[in-house]
Amino acid sequence: MTHPLYPHLLEPIRLGSLTLRNRVVMGSMHTGIEDHPWDIDKLAAFYAERARGGTGLIITGGFSPTKHGWLKPFASEMSTRMQAMRQRTVTGAVHDEGGAIALQVLHAGRYAFHPLSQGASNRKSPITPFRPSAMSSKEVDATATAFAKSVALARKGGYDAVEIMGSEGYLINQFLAARTNDRDDQWGGSSARRMHFPVEIVRRARELVGDDFPIVYRISLLDLVEDGQSWEETVELALHLQDAGVTVLNTGIGWHEARVPTIITQVPRGAWVEHTARLKQYVDVPVCASNRINTPELAEEIIASGKADLVSMARPLLADPFFVAKATDERADEINTCIACNQACLDHVFENKRASCLVNPRACHETELVLMPTLRKKTVAVVGAGPAGLAAATSAAERGFGVSLFEKAPEIGGQFRLAMAVPGKEDFAETLRYFGRRLEVLGVDVRLGTEVTPADLAAYDEVIVATGVEPRLPEIEGIDHPSVVSYADVLSGRVVPGKRVAVIGAGGIGVDVSHWLTHVEEDLDDWMAHWGVGDPVLHRGGLAEPKPRESAREVTLVQRKSTPIGIGLGKTSGWAHRAVLKQSGIVQVNGATYDRIDDAGLHVTVDGEQRVIECDTVVVCAGQESVRSLYDDLGRGHLIGGADVAAELDAKRAIDQGTRVVAAL
Ligand code: NAP
Ligand code: SF4
Repeated sequence: MTHPLYPHLLEPIRLGSLTLRNRVVMGSMHTGIEDHPWDIDKLAAFYAERARGGTGLIITGGFSPTKHGWLKPFASEMSTRMQAMRQRTVTGAVHDEGGAIALQVLHAGRYAFHPLSQGASNRKSPITPFRPSAMSSKEVDATATAFAKSVALARKGGYDAVEIMGSEGYLINQFLAARTNDRDDQWGGSSARRMHFPVEIVRRARELVGDDFPIVYRISLLDLVEDGQSWEETVELALHLQDAGVTVLNTGIGWHEARVPTIITQVPRGAWVEHTARLKQYVDVPVCASNRINTPELAEEIIASGKADLVSMARPLLADPFFVAKATDERADEINTCIACNQACLDHVFENKRASCLVNPRACHETELVLMPTLRKKTVAVVGAGPAGLAAATSAAERGFGVSLFEKAPEIGGQFRLAMAVPGKEDFAETLRYFGRRLEVLGVDVRLGTEVTPADLAAYDEVIVATGVEPRLPEIEGIDHPSVVSYADVLSGRVVPGKRVAVIGAGGIGVDVSHWLTHVEEDLDDWMAHWGVGDPVLHRGGLAEPKPRESAREVTLVQRKSTPIGIGLGKTSGWAHRAVLKQSGIVQVNGATYDRIDDAGLHVTVDGEQRVIECDTVVVCAGQESVRSLYDDLGRGHLIGGADVAAELDAKRAIDQGTRVVAAL
């Protein structure tokens, strides 16, 4: 029977010997768990939950065919029979839940974070400290064989398919681009010879596993780096790979060192799908779209319109393992949507920590953070409906406690609501939609516009205080001048700032507010033009001359620290925020001392020199202070979120803490 809402997305598809129950692919994402053989049960539980949630095909994080290709020392590898057999725990768990799983074979090449790294040449990458050694011709040949062997071993380990990682700037991609391949042997020197390596890998793998075993190849559609592949070369490669025996072409966008954001929140949803659609016209094998696809509606539209045959979503399935099941049951409004923040997934992996998810702290902690149903019918009061309070209230209700949630404001969300107003962070609204719906479904007694006293809470068995924060007002002479407003006034729309603005404080919020102040409405074409993304048919690697941004206001962003502005922002997204500041002509002043604010503007001293930043409005983004008088008066209960620690307040910590406090009740 065809599904009334997502008939194309939920339609089965046959890939060689494998029939997928739907078109949803959980794209490969390194979690850090796969690197520890002793954590195999955690890895199995992580994937099994996604299989139980209805995902069509799961693709694992990358496993290297050789030790040279490890992402970091002793990272996941698939080169021995013992390694393959160990994987049966994972594949068995997924199969028990009716799912299918593919192993990704990835050789890091010059992106490896260890001294054994090898590349097509010895050119160092800008994102790792290790210079690779250039492979000899014999070593390249042996590596192609090692890839093929990994594919065969994956099948032995019970995998239903494999994905060969040919994009994002890893080894195979490095062979394909003149940028990183200056060889003059049979593996380089011309575009035809640069293609030899991936084609040979697929050919040898196909020879080992026979005709029917599905081989997915992730092809780089746009390299987004200088001296990347031309569109003509990309199409030619796709046709060669098809002849060599790939079953599916998954599509990747941009190298890790590219200076164009490809997956973070500010990338418009579905931004890259047209390139997948274009490739699809040339090939007969199914193609899979990826990057910034996070709702079943968009995924359905992509397949229904014939732009792709499958849709890959990696982070959305970290955020909600039951994404497909909820779509199938027509409960898409209950999906915990990935907001593309990278804060707990990619940022963790790049910091060598286990991945998780800002909106779902159970991700990758399935066996450890368990919300056990309770037999004790306790009552729980949660005060404050920001991220911490929302996580606590919904988790407590999920466990079976009787929960009341009190919120002083007329709506849920707290400080998180302000983030939704920042250009490119519109998806943050999805988190509040999710929590709002979850409160309804779980029957939490929600009392908005209600300020409580300790007496109101006396009857509850447990009290969780999540009263959040208030913006800090620094002690600067003239801080009560009429030109001074807080970031909350600006982002909530309570005040309209003038044309010349000084921003005090350059943390995450100061940077976001500066973006808000300068932002001029843009469509997808403008977005691409500002980031210098051009038609790949005309521009090699898809890189064109960036179009300058207009700016709605003259903004000066000031901080006291002498470190570069924005240096403390997220590892995988901070650089893009810093680039926007530059593109928007925002003047950045660091190492400042605030002298006073008056009719002339903001007076500062920098390097011993006094100056005035002339402005109509001064926006204060100087961090927050905890609001915890209720907790102090109460003398009991659990204090969480910004009310607990205001410094470095963030939604990731708040949601995690709210969930963990309840798990331990
Ligand atoms: P924050 O990161 O703590 O930054 C506030 C800044 O204000 C500090 O960097 C500090 O810089 C300055 N400041 C502190 N006390 C001051 C004082 N008394 N007088 C003048 N300046 C003072 O706080 P936030 O920007 O409000 O952000 C809060 C949290 O939201 C962040 O920690 C982050 O987790 C989250 N967030 C993240 C992002 C992102 O990653 N893109 C975006 C938005 C929010 P100086 O001392 O150098 O002046
Ligand atoms: Fe998505 Fe952010 Fe969760 Fe990563 S941490 S999966 S980007 S919501």
